[in-house]
Amino acid sequence: MAETFYTKEQLALREKYRALVKEHVMPRVKEIDEKDRIPKDLIEKLTKAPFFLPALSVPKKFGGHEIGKVDVCIIAEEIGYGCPALIPFLEIAQLYTYVIKLGGTDEQQKRFLGRIASGEVGCYALTDETPGSDPAGMKSTATKTDKGFLLNGRKRLISYADFSDIFALFANEDPASGGKGVSAFIVDKNTKGLTLDKHDLLFGLKGHRAYDLKLENLFVPIEDRIGQKGDGLKLALRVLSNTRISLSFGHIGLARAALEVAVKFAKERVIAGTPIYKHQGIAFPVAEIASEIDAARLMALRAAVLSERNVDHRKETSMAKILCGRVMLRAVEQANLILGGYGGDTEWPIERYLRDAFAWIAAQGTPEIHRVIVAREIFGK
Ligand SMILES: Cc1cc2nc3c(=O)[nH]c(=O)nc-3n(C[C@H](O)[C@H](O)[C@H](O)COP(=O)(O)OP(=O)(O)OC[C@H]3O[C@@H](n4cnc5c(N)ncnc54)[C@H](O)[C@@H]3O)c2cc1C
Repeated sequence: MAETFYTKEQLALREKYRALVKEHVMPRVKEIDEKDRIPKDLIEKLTKAPFFLPALSVPKKFGGHEIGKVDVCIIAEEIGYGCPALIPFLEIAQLYTYVIKLGGTDEQQKRFLGRIASGEVGCYALTDETPGSDPAGMKSTATKTDKGFLLNGRKRLISYADFSDIFALFANEDPASGGKGVSAFIVDKNTKGLTLDKHDLLFGLKGHRAYDLKLENLFVPIEDRIGQKGDGLKLALRVLSNTRISLSFGHIGLARAALEVAVKFAKERVIAGTPIYKHQGIAFPVAEIASEIDAARLMALRAAVLSERNVDHRKETSMAKILCGRVMLRAVEQANLILGGYGGDTEWPIERYLRDAFAWIAAQGTPEIHRVIVAREIFGK
């Protein structure tokens, strides 16, 4: 359905990434899930040729590909379809990239984005030991020294911290002023005072590891703060508003994958001489989910187009995230029901889809937080 609104070039891009996912990702998915590890050679392919995922949003003048928002979303759907655990190569890379693109000076953009264009991985550490839904209340601090800052605190659920070469970190320079003191900093992985602590044992998205980070007198020079004192929270939210759209497309990719499995099973499974799809009890929910997938994709596409036009799209983005997340959960649940006893059988992908969907839903803001954002836009603050 969204096809109607994609250009010829975008349809070709979709075919290209669909084929890449089929060739390089699909054969590895079971191994990634079972070992909870992404093979090194696959990381190489995803970060460099032929996928170039982290570099897709980096401006051409810094060596990146600088493709449009809708293009990124089209690719995100294909990665979500193939293996959601791999989406941070696009998603988290974009979070990192946007911190610097939206908040950095020309000199900082040149220094930090060129590294991403060359295949390095960046991560985004906003969530603190305090509730992720309230980043203004974060406890991590940045204390001013002569030549920079000393960061102390603890970050949580930081995706791909183990692969990352560069970290975008948020900490509060003035805790007494709440969120108004939060600033953004860029830190190299080997900096003294930055330690990867335990990684969270997610039941889904296996291979995607999200770590706790310890910040202990972590020194950051003044020139590596992005923006001014207190710019961090606004920047973090602007960044998220951009990247939540492609994450929504990732959700749609997983919903599409679940629907395809359900359709295949319903055609092949014959009970008392009748393929089960001939029962309305099976066919109608499939028809509903298919309609909802198209509706959710169109809604996310609207947010992407508004974002490309630089129009305020916070409400539309959160609406899309709510709907795409819900459709993803509904699709995996319905596919599980249609597969009967095979739903829980590890020979079928549905049990993995269920785990992935439920482990994924809170990323970049829980559904409740997106409802808070939409309600605020409707009712005022
Ligand atoms: C797979 C995954 C990857 C992640 N990767 C990263 C990353 O790379 N970097 C990073 O910084 N963070 C990352 N996160 C963290 C994510 O942003 C947080 O999990 C999310 O913001 C929720 O925070 P929390 O888990 O602390 O839940 P809490 O904020 O403690 O929320 C608990 C519950 O309260 C509800 N709630 C909170 N406020 C309200 C309200 N006002 N009204 C109604 N209900 C409310 C929430 O919806 C939730 O149900 C990741 C999370 C996941 C799941």
